[in-house]
Amino acid sequence: MRRPLGQHFLFDVNILKKIIDCSAIIADDTVVEIGPGSGSLTRLLAERAKKVIAIEIDRRLLRRLKENFSTMKNVEAIAGDALKFPYETINGRFKVVANIPYYITTPLLFRLLEFREKISSMTLLLQKEVAQRVIASPGCKDYGVLSITLQLYTKPTLKFFVPKGAFSPPPEVDSAVVHFEVSPTPLYKIKDEAFFIGIVKMAFSQRRKTIMNSLRSFKRIKDALLEAGIDYRSRPEELSIKDFIRLADGLCE
Ligand code: SAM
Repeated sequence: MRRPLGQHFLFDVNILKKIIDCSAIIADDTVVEIGPGSGSLTRLLAERAKKVIAIEIDRRLLRRLKENFSTMKNVEAIAGDALKFPYETINGRFKVVANIPYYITTPLLFRLLEFREKISSMTLLLQKEVAQRVIASPGCKDYGVLSITLQLYTKPTLKFFVPKGAFSPPPEVDSAVVHFEVSPTPLYKIKDEAFFIGIVKMAFSQRRKTIMNSLRSFKRIKDALLEAGIDYRSRPEELSIKDFIRLADGLCE
C-alpha cells in the first residue's frame, strides 16, 4: 500500500528499541529525527538524548506531536520539509535517527551528506533494496552511484531487516536498518571530490557499456585507464572506489 508522504508507522516497541540501540545515542547527544509521525520513536529518543529535533511535514501530525510532548522539554517539534531544512542552524554536531519517508530516500541521503561536517552518525530505516545498494561492493548488481557516494563519506553497516508487516499500514516493500558512521572529510584521498562524483555518475549512466565507452568524451580516457591499471573493457560495476579515484585523479590533471 502506497501512502502519501510515506506514512507507514512503526509501533513495535522491540523494533523501536533495537533501532535506538543501533544508534548508540548517549545522554549528551543532539538527535535529529526526520518524520516523527505519531512520535513512537521520538519518545524513546527523548528518553536517551539531551535534545531531539523532530522535523515533520504534516501539520496535523505535528500539532498532535506538540501536544503529546508538551511535558518533554528536550523535544523540539518543527514543521518543515526535511529536504529543505537548514541543518547548519543546529548547534554543534548531531546524530540522525529516523524511519524515513521512502519517497524522498535518495534526495534525502544526498541532502544529509551535504551536512557531513555536522553529522556524526545516521541510523536510518530504509527500503531493503536501497539498504542493499548502500552497502554494495564492486561486482555486485546493487553497486552504483549511491554505494560509492555514501561509502566515500560514511561507513555503512546493515543492522537488521524489518518485515513490511511490522508497519501500520504496511508498505509494499521490506525494510532494513542501516547505521552510518559519518566522516566530515572523504575516507579516501581525492584530488577533486566534485569531479570524482561527476566521473562516477557518468560511468554508471550507461551501466551496460564499458568504462571506456561511457567516458569516451575524455580524449585521454584510454591512457588514463592504462595509467590507473584498469582494463578498458571493464564495466563500471567492476571498479572499486579506489579504481575510480585513480581514474578521476588522472583525468582531472
Ligand atoms: N517516525 C514515525 C514512525 O516510525 O512511526 C513515522 C515514520 S513515516 C515512515 C514517515 C514520516 O515522515 C511521516 O510522519 C510523514 O508525514 C513524514 N514526512 C514525509 N515527508 C516528509 C518530509 N519531506 N519532511 C519531513 N517529514 C516528512
